[in-house]
Amino acid sequence: MSTNAPAPLLPPESHPASARATGASYLDRLPSLIDESVRVYADRNDELARFPEEGIRALGEEGLLGLSIPTALGGLGQGPGLFAKVVAALAEADASLAMVYLMHLAGAAVLLQASQTSVVSAALREMAMGRHLTTLAFSEKGSRSHFWSPVSRARRTPEGVRLSANKSWVTSAGHAQSMVVTTLSAEGHGPVDTTLYLLRSDEPGVLIGPAWNGMGLRGNASSPIELKDCCVPEEARLSGEGGGMSVKLQTVLPLFNLGVAAMDLGISRAAVKATVAHLTSARLEHMGSSLAEAFPTLRAQVARMQSATDGLELRVEDLVRQLESPGPQTLLRVLETKAAANEIAIQVTSDAMRACGGAAFSRHTRIDRYFRDAQAGAVMAPTVDQVNEFVGRAVLGLPLM
Ligand SMILES: Cc1cc2nc3c(=O)[nH]c(=O)nc-3n(C[C@H](O)[C@H](O)[C@H](O)COP(=O)(O)OP(=O)(O)OC[C@H]3O[C@@H](n4cnc5c(N)ncnc54)[C@H](O)[C@@H]3O)c2cc1C
Repeated sequence: MSTNAPAPLLPPESHPASARATGASYLDRLPSLIDESVRVYADRNDELARFPEEGIRALGEEGLLGLSIPTALGGLGQGPGLFAKVVAALAEADASLAMVYLMHLAGAAVLLQASQTSVVSAALREMAMGRHLTTLAFSEKGSRSHFWSPVSRARRTPEGVRLSANKSWVTSAGHAQSMVVTTLSAEGHGPVDTTLYLLRSDEPGVLIGPAWNGMGLRGNASSPIELKDCCVPEEARLSGEGGGMSVKLQTVLPLFNLGVAAMDLGISRAAVKATVAHLTSARLEHMGSSLAEAFPTLRAQVARMQSATDGLELRVEDLVRQLESPGPQTLLRVLETKAAANEIAIQVTSDAMRACGGAAFSRHTRIDRYFRDAQAGAVMAPTVDQVNEFVGRAVLGLPLM
């Protein structure tokens, strides 16, 4: 374990390139940002399990770390539509970076719905300036993927609240300037009486575990973090006492699920493109044709991959509309879209592995990376199994828990 003072993201004198452009102009500039600061590093980051620091810095310089933060606080004031498009575009080049980014904006959303104390608004302003990355520290060793039911409990002292917890995976561990922590409330009684806090990563007692060496999303630094009697002031409380669960359901879940679905869309698009590139370029000299020309089975496989990816794009667009104008179906769509996206990405990347044969096992097609990265969404909470359980209960008219 090591204590953590993350390196600054941007030097203090620099400012985001623009907090004045529209959603459309950000999308116009995104391809060059991705070409220069994301795509070129993605293979190496995957190979070395290296954090995508160039990509995060570039997103900060462009103001995109403040995508959802109101313009009054220096952010871009944009909504779920631009969020989903940016995440999908990043994931097509580097899914690890997309996950780091979506965790950051899910954390920022928690700060945005909280009382705007000096601690909270200072952090939001730093994010808008590209100098502050945050993340979610929800999962615990003791309750595993049941993020709604942590086993750690806050301890109230005369100086403030003290947090001690074993967080099992924290994306951007050792790189994020802060984390949104869930813990049982100091005076709570029930298993979901939780409270959320903003904890700075350089606080004494924040201990980062061994370096992340995962199978997929290898660049996202998802190490465990131990919190040892960390002090948080009252101004850093992000939910009502015992009100953590409703913030998780109303604020975190919709944005996280949309972000994961958009990440899976980007991964699926990348897998389709890589498959097309290989099938149209690899040749069977003795038959005088490319793989694409030679076999109808491969063409059918590509058709299924493309159609599943297009279907996922429609689901993501639908969820964006649901979040912009919530209605009675919104929670169901929030759940269904994540499960569908997780399964589509796994299916599309598995098909890509099969269609490209032995070539997909070698690194040059990148399909092995897409396949490995696609596995993560399904096991990230709420896992596909949990979502299916919730959806099944909802459809059958049973209580969700
Ligand atoms: C790359 C990566 C990054 C991550 N980043 C973060 C992060 O930034 N912050 C964070 O808080 N967490 C993070 N996590 C943790 C993640 O959200 C899950 O908590 C974790 O993946 C669950 O793994 P586990 O072994 O604890 O699963 P377990 O809880 O042990 O689950 C094992 C199996 O049981 C199933 N299961 C569990 N509960 C139910 C149920 N109620 N109904 C049906 N089936 C069930 C699961 O679907 C799974 O198949 C990350 C995980 C990964 C892989």
